[in-house]
Amino acid sequence: MSTTSKTLPIPEATLLKLAAETPTPFHVYDEAGIRRNAQALIKAFSWAPGFREYFAVKATPNPHILKILFEEGCGMDCSSLAELILSERIGAGPEDIMFTSNNTPAHEYQKAKDLGAIINLDDLTHIEYLRDEVGLPELISCRYNPGPLSEGSAIIGKPTEAKFGFSREQLIEGYAKLKENGVQRFGLHAMIVSNELSEDALVANARMLFELAIEIHKKTSVAVEMVNLGGGIGVAYKPEDTPVDLESFGSKVKGAYEEVIVGSALDGLKVMMENGRCMTGPFGVLVTKAIHTKHTYRDYLGVDASMANLMRPGMYGSYHHITVLGKSGEPSVGKFDVVGSLCENNDKFAVQRDLPKVEMGDYLAIHDAGAHGHSMGFNYNGKLRSPEYLLKEDGTLQMIRRGETLDDLFATLEF
Ligand SMILES: *Cc1c(COP(=O)(O)O)cnc(C)c1O
Repeated sequence: MSTTSKTLPIPEATLLKLAAETPTPFHVYDEAGIRRNAQALIKAFSWAPGFREYFAVKATPNPHILKILFEEGCGMDCSSLAELILSERIGAGPEDIMFTSNNTPAHEYQKAKDLGAIINLDDLTHIEYLRDEVGLPELISCRYNPGPLSEGSAIIGKPTEAKFGFSREQLIEGYAKLKENGVQRFGLHAMIVSNELSEDALVANARMLFELAIEIHKKTSVAVEMVNLGGGIGVAYKPEDTPVDLESFGSKVKGAYEEVIVGSALDGLKVMMENGRCMTGPFGVLVTKAIHTKHTYRDYLGVDASMANLMRPGMYGSYHHITVLGKSGEPSVGKFDVVGSLCENNDKFAVQRDLPKVEMGDYLAIHDAGAHGHSMGFNYNGKLRSPEYLLKEDGTLQMIRRGETLDDLFATLEF
């Protein structure tokens, strides 16, 4: 049996050269790929009034990456103070930021309001909280949770069990209340799907929001001016997965928009998205070195990265493809668990994965690590966050975040 193949965004030779010159593990991102993909998404929705993608900063919170997306016309979708400040620092101004948070403390609302961010409220009670703590801005959006009306997804969970958003009844009450309190401009948001590869599911989500905007208008006479479809466009992590065809997805959403919105009282409704994963995920690679093999009841391949560099496999059981650099296409010599060094048995990048013959010192490229990879890093077991590199459009490599040192790790301690 041969190992299955999947194309890396960055040539193997480039990754091998960097690995030979600099300590592993590290993440490296492909600027050209990120730009091309952002342009494709924006083009696919060029029919939509006021379309804008607000990049979910949490996916890859590095200012160099944010700047690239900002230059392509994306706004920034934030959910915390740090993400707001990162966005401010790259130059995002009023309405360049979507603030989709939950369980939000007053000082974070204050910062969002100061920056002129579009605030997406997560709960009915936050109307009074925001009004009393910070004051209501002119424009407010509300986050919808469809509860039993939607099945949700493995990552976000069932909407009835998800902590996010207003129930349907609360949403109607909420818009009426916002209006009474002097709010003049309104948005509607939902984030129900995640890592979704089915165009039909993504389009159904859009249609549901268009219909809901109409219902809100009928029941409260509030005319929502923008609908934010959330993020959730999936990544083809497995070799057999088919990526979402952005052009086809955009044109199907256009179909739903024409049926539901065009000619209605809400004609001209603006459409937004706040994708993270699909914007950077496929364009980032985690490079790590093979340091041990072990044979007990299974075969293990130990690498110098751990779940602290990419926690998706350990946290969600997610598949990430692995290419042994220089050995792609070689036949499998058996099934291995590819493991890090944390004292946790879920610290595995792959379980029972077919791999070619790996020598100690070989480099492995873990695919699709450009979103929710480095950003979910943590310091358990005293692991240090690894550096990040950018392969620029001109072919040069730039370090865009240095690796943490033990001094960084110990900086908050008193000895
Ligand atoms: C995580 C998140 C996103 C981005 O989701 P992706 O699956 O990365 O596209 C967008 N909006 C909200 C509110 C989120 O929590």
